[in-house]
Amino acid sequence: MAAWRVAVVGAGPAGLMAAETLARHGVAVDVYERMPSAGRKFLLAGKGGLNLTHSEPPAAFLSRYGAQRSVVAPWLAAFGAEDLRAWAARLGIETFVGSSGRVFPKDMKAAPLLRAWLHRLREAGVRLHMRHRWTGWAGERGLAMDTPTGSVVVQADAVVLALGGGSWSRLGSDGAWVPWLTARGVIVRPLLPANCGFDVARSGPHVHPQLGWSEHLRSRYAGQPLKTVVLSAKGVGGEHFARRGEFVLTDTGIEGSLVYAASGLLREAIAAHGAVDIHLDLMPDWPAERVLAEVSRPRGSRSWASHLQSRLGLKGLKVALLHEVLGPLAKHEPVTVAATLKALPLRLVSPRPLDEAISTAGGVAFEAVDEFLMLRQLPGVFCAGEMLDWEAPTGGYLLTACFASGRWAGEGAARWLGVT
Ligand SMILES: Cc1cc2nc3c(=O)[nH]c(=O)nc-3n(C[C@H](O)[C@H](O)[C@H](O)COP(=O)(O)OP(=O)(O)OC[C@H]3O[C@@H](n4cnc5c(N)ncnc54)[C@H](O)[C@@H]3O)c2cc1C
Repeated sequence: MAAWRVAVVGAGPAGLMAAETLARHGVAVDVYERMPSAGRKFLLAGKGGLNLTHSEPPAAFLSRYGAQRSVVAPWLAAFGAEDLRAWAARLGIETFVGSSGRVFPKDMKAAPLLRAWLHRLREAGVRLHMRHRWTGWAGERGLAMDTPTGSVVVQADAVVLALGGGSWSRLGSDGAWVPWLTARGVIVRPLLPANCGFDVARSGPHVHPQLGWSEHLRSRYAGQPLKTVVLSAKGVGGEHFARRGEFVLTDTGIEGSLVYAASGLLREAIAAHGAVDIHLDLMPDWPAERVLAEVSRPRGSRSWASHLQSRLGLKGLKVALLHEVLGPLAKHEPVTVAATLKALPLRLVSPRPLDEAISTAGGVAFEAVDEFLMLRQLPGVFCAGEMLDWEAPTGGYLLTACFASGRWAGEGAARWLGVT
C-alpha cells in the first residue's frame, strides 16, 4: 500500500511533534515552514533559559490551564511533563528541576535540543521545506504555498496546522491564518495578548489621571525590578488574585513574571470595565500594624525618605512608587502612608500589544475541533499548539501543551488515516 502523505504546516514545537508522531506510524510527512529555519520562537524561548516544563504534581499542573483544563487533560495524560523530560533525554538532553520547580535542560539552551531533534526527524524520513509560506486554500483542500521558486499547491491526505499564535511575528507566527479558517466556517476567537505587560494610568485624588508614569519615575526607574511584593486584583467574576513575586517597571507600566501570572484576569477585567485597579503590598513580610507603628514614630527633622529607610528599610523604587501615588508624603497622615505601603493602588488601562506578548490567548475554538483536534468543518485537517484557544502562565506550561497537542493531533491524524 502506498504510504499516506501528511502535510504539517509550521515547524515549531507543536508541528514538529506532530511530524514525529506521524512518521512513527509510517506516514510520509512533509513539514512546511515560512521562515528560513525551524523553531525560531522555541530558540528565542531558550535565550533566557529554556523552561521546558514544570515538576509539580499532575493535578496542580493541569489547573494552570484554567477553563480549558478538561480539554488539555487528555493531551497531558498521553504526554505529560515526565514524558517530555524522558523524550528530551532520548535526544541526549538531560533536564533538571530548578528551585522554583521549573524544569530546564542542564545547559539551559534550546538550540542543542532542536538540532538533535531535527536530525532525528530527518533520519525518520520527515522532509522539511523551509521558506514555504501557506497562503490559503487552493480549491477544496489544496494548500497554496509561496516558495522561493514561486507558488505551488500542496495536496495531502491529511493536514496538521501548527501555525502558532500572533506574538513576536518577526519569528514567523503572525496570525495571518485566521481569515483562511473563518472563511471555511471555523470558529476562531480573537487572538489576544497573554503573559503580557500592561500600561498604567496615574489617578487618585492627588494626581490628575494621566497615561504612563511621571517623567521622574520613568527616567529613573524604568527597567528596574520591583522585588518581593504581593499583587492583588479582582477578576470580572469577582475572583480574587493575590500572589507574591516580582516584576519590572517599564516605560509605560509593568511587566514580568508576577504580572504575567495575573495577565488573563487583568486582560479580561480591562475588556469588561475599561481599566482594572490592582494593589501592591510593598511590605508583604510586615503586618499592617507594625508598618503603621514604624511610620508613626516621630520623624523629627528627618526627611520622609530617610524616615522610611531607617524605620522600614525602604528605599529606591518602592519609595518612588509611594511618591508617585501620594505626591509629597509630608501632606499625608502616617495612617495613609502606612495603608498605601500595604496596598498601593495602580490603575491598568491596557495590555501591551499582542506582538510583544510571550504567548497568545484565543485562536481556534474547541467547539470547532473534535476530540482529536480535527476541524469539524474540514475533515482531515488538524490543529495543534498555540493556535488553539487555550492559555497558561509561564513556567513551562506553554511548551508542554504545545508538544502534547502536537502529539495528540499527530495521533489523531494517524487514526483518521487508519494507520494505528
Ligand atoms: C520571549 C519568549 C520566551 C518564551 N519562553 C518560554 C519558556 O521558557 N517556556 C515555555 O513553555 N514557553 C515559552 N514561550 C512560549 C513558547 O515559545 C510558545 O508557546 C511555543 O513556541 C508555541 O509553539 P507552536 O509550535 O504552537 O508555535 P510556534 O513556535 O510559534 O511555531 C509556529 C510555526 O509556524 C510557522 N508559520 C506560521 N504561519 C505560517 C504559514 N502561513 N506558513 C508556514 N509556516 C507558518 C511559524 O513561522 C512558526 O515557525 C516563550 C515565548 C516567547 C515569545
